[in-house]
Amino acid sequence: MTRAINFSAGPAALPAEVLQQAAAEMLDWQGSGQSVMEMSHRGKEFMAIAAAAEADLRELMAIPANYKVLFLQGGASLQFEMIPMNLLAGKGSADFVNTGEWAKKAIKAVKHFGKANVVASAEDSNFNYAPKQDTWKLDPNAAYVHYTANETIGGVEFHWVPETGNVPLVCDMSSNILSKPVDVSKYGLIYAGAQKNIGPAGLTIVIIRDDLIGKGNPAPSAMLDYKTHADNDSMYNTPPTYGIYIAGLVFQWLKKQGGLAAIEQKNIAKARLLYDFLDQSAFFKNPVRKEDRSRMNIPFTLANAELDDEFLKGAKARGMVQLKGHRSVGGMRASIYNAMPIEGVQALIDYMKEFETQHG
Ligand code: PMP
Repeated sequence: MTRAINFSAGPAALPAEVLQQAAAEMLDWQGSGQSVMEMSHRGKEFMAIAAAAEADLRELMAIPANYKVLFLQGGASLQFEMIPMNLLAGKGSADFVNTGEWAKKAIKAVKHFGKANVVASAEDSNFNYAPKQDTWKLDPNAAYVHYTANETIGGVEFHWVPETGNVPLVCDMSSNILSKPVDVSKYGLIYAGAQKNIGPAGLTIVIIRDDLIGKGNPAPSAMLDYKTHADNDSMYNTPPTYGIYIAGLVFQWLKKQGGLAAIEQKNIAKARLLYDFLDQSAFFKNPVRKEDRSRMNIPFTLANAELDDEFLKGAKARGMVQLKGHRSVGGMRASIYNAMPIEGVQALIDYMKEFETQHG
């Protein structure tokens, strides 16, 4: 069996060790005689799996005790709506930083519940940078401030945490959660779909400060209210049990890697390797301002877009898949999340060098 070198933006590659363990436990989880997929979510086996996953996530991210961890469904896209439903709290508007495709979707979703006030935008330069905080026109009466920590399509990442005083900071961390340590105490709410750095699609993680729970005004219906899920330890209805189990294995794998500080060093090294190559190349190019470049998603273009298909074909022949850029921007994109080893990045660069020599 050969595993592809998988540059997918998500659902993305998972560590082989995690998949091997899941395979070994598929028919009989630790002598229970059942697959995790077949277990009652209220039975003692699954309750232990979920509790361990939460404890490991809390340890990895150093999540303070006054934050709840919720295992939900509906993707980050449902959070675009649940957040205003729960946090606008009668205030009418929240502040947003517009950094690209995902920020725009979060902004658009607010209109059913209140007003999204765009306090800064990178639209003036085709979303190729993260607006500096001193340009933000924050409203001190906003219900919260929302930003997208990593724009998965544009490849723009915040390498700093905004300061919003007493206004809660809300962050879409879908595509860079667990890639580096973060100070959770600076946030009111962090959310992420699982399918990049956590596990399979279908699980969504929300980390929310206690005092922001139960503030919906008008109160959302039960399934859309954070309070319902917090009061029931994410077991109000059947949670995505298998996704939680795989996430738990990924958290254990991360702990074995040395935790988030260690994985950050690997992510820095991987990203630097590829950006250094792109910057010296006369053929390949990345459009993002240097200090805001994503360590997770690296878009790049060829000097001649007519060669895109040939580039992808050659990559596939070398076992490298899912390099095609998002349909909205074209070109290429290499997503190099935690599970991508540096050898995979090096293999891509070796191929790019060869391609440039032939076509440059
Ligand atoms: N935010 C970001 C930054 C994303 O990358 C994505 C998905 N690629 C989403 C939100 C939407 O997530 P979902 O498909 O889980 O709703």
